Amino acid sequence: MRSAILNRFVQKVAQIVQTEGAACFSLGVADNRLHPQAVVSRRDGITRDSIGHVDIDRENPFSRAVADALSRKGPVVLTETTRIDRLTVQPPVLVMPIVWEREPLESEEEPIQRPVGVLTLWAKRDGQYNEDDYKLAETLSNQAAALLVEEQLDEFDDIQAAFSTVPVGLMLVSPQDEVLVANAAAMHVIGLDPLQGRSVMGIDYGEQLTGLIAGVREGGNGYAAASFTSRDNQTYAASAQVTQEGQVILAFTQNPFSTAAEELTGQVAHELRTPLTVIQGNLQTIDAMIEFGIQPEDQEIITEFIDTALIQSARMFRLIAETLNISRIHAGKELELEVEEFDLVEALNQILSELADYLMSHHLDVQAPDRLIVEGDRGKIISIYDNFLKNAAKYSDTGTTITIRVYEDGDDAVIAVTDQGIGIPSEALEKIGKEAGFRTDLSKKQAGGIGLGMVYTRRVTEAHGGRMEIESTVGEGSTFRAMIPKTQPEK
Ligand code: ADP
Repeated sequence: MRSAILNRFVQKVAQIVQTEGAACFSLGVADNRLHPQAVVSRRDGITRDSIGHVDIDRENPFSRAVADALSRKGPVVLTETTRIDRLTVQPPVLVMPIVWEREPLESEEEPIQRPVGVLTLWAKRDGQYNEDDYKLAETLSNQAAALLVEEQLDEFDDIQAAFSTVPVGLMLVSPQDEVLVANAAAMHVIGLDPLQGRSVMGIDYGEQLTGLIAGVREGGNGYAAASFTSRDNQTYAASAQVTQEGQVILAFTQNPFSTAAEELTGQVAHELRTPLTVIQGNLQTIDAMIEFGIQPEDQEIITEFIDTALIQSARMFRLIAETLNISRIHAGKELELEVEEFDLVEALNQILSELADYLMSHHLDVQAPDRLIVEGDRGKIISIYDNFLKNAAKYSDTGTTITIRVYEDGDDAVIAVTDQGIGIPSEALEKIGKEAGFRTDLSKKQAGGIGLGMVYTRRVTEAHGGRMEIESTVGEGSTFRAMIPKTQPEK
């Protein structure tokens, strides 16, 4: 559905591009981020930069123009040279908000206007935008809003149908905290029918939910849970998860799961979504390019998109294996190793490309030989890198350095990851990787997590006959080290 609409819109934008220069459109503003769906220009076709997010930060002139256009619900012309994602763009840049408007409900006076994104035009040949350009941009932005709503309504029907089959109370809440979809079980929990169209604040005891929603939006891992007391004094486990568009899914259960299992499920779902988003985005872009007509020079970009999608699918397989292994450990079973000979440095390069998005905002200092051949379970050892690196990024500020060292020490191969992050109090060092679910108080303030990654990492290291060490100073940073014998005993 989305790609069909996207294609139609790409073609529209392309018409401007034919005559004027470049155009970009971004649909969907969530979590203070734009989610650009396409950046097109006459010279480059659809560029690599069409995938990813643009952070709206007030320092960047483009971000300021976007924020102004969205808050004023009117066009803004930017006269400075600016950066949009990774492109440097010459002025003047016309930023036109895409605003969705809904007729007022009976209880409301004003129509509801909701900015859903921006359409941006730049590189106009003769410099200035005239009345005709404004009109064209406005027409396109209205069409985009209409297409988005059409798509969203279809999507809501699908979601409603899916929700109605589940015996758990489910609600989908917009970035503006309005209930978009709710199933019968949710209406029963809340005691209101219909729920759709209401603001969460307007619900009895709704402040418990707004608290949960605010928590999940601000928290690091996109998932939060709390108990919810209904009007008739029943207690439910309420969990919240943020979608890519900044909507929140609320689920209400009367304790069918233990909290740990629920948290693990939430975490896994969240982890899997990241690679899946890349895969889907790349495929959609290739799809749009095919529609657009592939040029010989696009070949390279397409190959790159496919390669990235393949890398991320490999990552999904590993994450699924990791989850299954964690539940096996939980059930008291031993980890089984599939030992092979492999290059520890090549494995590092693989995980660095898989984690490119996670690590983008940090400086990386990689110190490794050209090759280091070891015997071990390649997939599980990649999980060691994965967990060390993700934690280093999660528990340190952006812009700081993460150092990765791979080296030999006698009979051992060593993987060491050092961050300049929050650090770990000395009394907590003992517990990390040993007690499932253990998290330091410092880290609880910082970001979401469930305290299983290090338990797995330690188990994997020990199953190889190795050991894990942590050194840390609060406020300065930590070093996590896995020391693994280079050869494994014959079975
Ligand atoms: P999670 O990060 O999902 O909570 P882990 O098992 O990976 O689970 O880590 C357990 C705990 O160890 C974390 O919650 C955090 O308290 C602490 N920790 C792990 N890595 C770091 C790090 N690089 N810096 C500071 N604390 C860390």
